[in-house]
Amino acid sequence: MAGGATPTNRDVVVSLERMASVEQIDNHTATMTVEAGVTLEAAQKAALAAGWFLGLDLGSRSSCQIGGNISTNAGGVRVIKYGTVRNQVTGLEVVLPDGSVVADMQKIAKNNTGYDLKQLFIGAEGTLGIVTRAILRLFPVPSAVGTVLCATNGIQASERLLRLLQTEVGDVSAFEIMWPAYYSFVVKGLGGRTPLKIDMPLYALIEVQDVSTDAVTSKLETVIDQAIRHNLVLEAVPAGSTREASRFWAIRDGNPIDTLPCLINFDLGLSIADMADFVDECDRRLVEQWPDSFRFWFGHIGDGNLHLSVSVGEADTTTLSLLEDIVYSITAQYNGSISAEHGIGRLKRPFLNLCRSDEEIAVMRMIKSAIDPHGIMNPAKVI
Ligand SMILES: Cc1cc2nc3c(=O)[nH]c(=O)nc-3n(C[C@H](O)[C@H](O)[C@H](O)COP(=O)(O)OP(=O)(O)OC[C@H]3O[C@@H](n4cnc5c(N)ncnc54)[C@H](O)[C@@H]3O)c2cc1C
Repeated sequence: MAGGATPTNRDVVVSLERMASVEQIDNHTATMTVEAGVTLEAAQKAALAAGWFLGLDLGSRSSCQIGGNISTNAGGVRVIKYGTVRNQVTGLEVVLPDGSVVADMQKIAKNNTGYDLKQLFIGAEGTLGIVTRAILRLFPVPSAVGTVLCATNGIQASERLLRLLQTEVGDVSAFEIMWPAYYSFVVKGLGGRTPLKIDMPLYALIEVQDVSTDAVTSKLETVIDQAIRHNLVLEAVPAGSTREASRFWAIRDGNPIDTLPCLINFDLGLSIADMADFVDECDRRLVEQWPDSFRFWFGHIGDGNLHLSVSVGEADTTTLSLLEDIVYSITAQYNGSISAEHGIGRLKRPFLNLCRSDEEIAVMRMIKSAIDPHGIMNPAKVI
């Protein structure tokens, strides 16, 4: 997504694929100890098999590794409830460029004894060391999950719906939004019946958790009815089964979009208050430049994260640079982030100064040169 894992000619690539064991699940501290090469999906399954729930989930679950999730401080679809990886790691083992092993393998939640070193390596994209083991927080398995797909009356209506759900239902675990072009393209690509009419103002995939199926269903129905009466929601389909919920999630995972040629993905952070104006302005500028382009917007409204996938038919350096200039300059005008969850890598490095100050970048350089004075860890990435 940001070229962070793309080596150049002289780099050595290290694979942690065979360091994939789940070493321990500790019921007393509600933690799991894993090697960094375990895939997210394998870790999720191991947690469930032991009666626990891993809060992290994202589209690349079957291929991404816990070490990669940690190094990108991955967010995913349930940040609204469980936070990003930063909130879910209690311990970390890292091999530094000089070969020394820093093991801060803590299971306890409270440990105010000096600098929290593990946080330095979370989101560092492998520029400070190689993560080899981690201890992750576990959560009780939600006993009942309600999923509903809605057509809403736009961003403001979606925000009001989210707040209503948080007040009336409580445990909102996901609130994903999709713009009409995204929705219709993905639904057609997946085939089968369209759960909601196409060309509605906005779509929201909502997941809430509660203690019993009856409680979750009745609370959700009450709030959605209320939202329909207040014109926040135009149409809604509750998932009647786990299978139907998976079909709704497949729409949000959006795999058909990957079939478009020369796809370029953006991962932006914006205040919810600015999202509607930002999308209108950015979309207008992109259409002016590339009238026949595909532009798909979707995101996690609860944490102000907006994704844009664009296909203009080519992805040469000139096109890419023009595209980035348009999107990032408008993002900067709205005081947004050019990378909400995919990191900086190589591709976004020239734009780091749009959302981090000179002083912050100077401190990052000091940390990098103190830990990796020869610049051997993931060279030419981040800073
Ligand atoms: C379909 C899809 C959906 C996604 N959805 C989301 C989403 O919803 N939210 C989100 O936050 N992200 C998302 N991502 C991006 C996501 O952050 C990554 O997929 C994942 O977290 C990275 O894990 P990986 O093992 O694939 O790492 P890689 O892509 O292999 O590497 C990512 C970075 O981490 C470094 N790295 C990897 N392993 C280690 C290690 N053990 N030690 C040190 N550095 C390491 C690499 O050098 C590189 O800089 C998505 C990606 C895809 C392809």
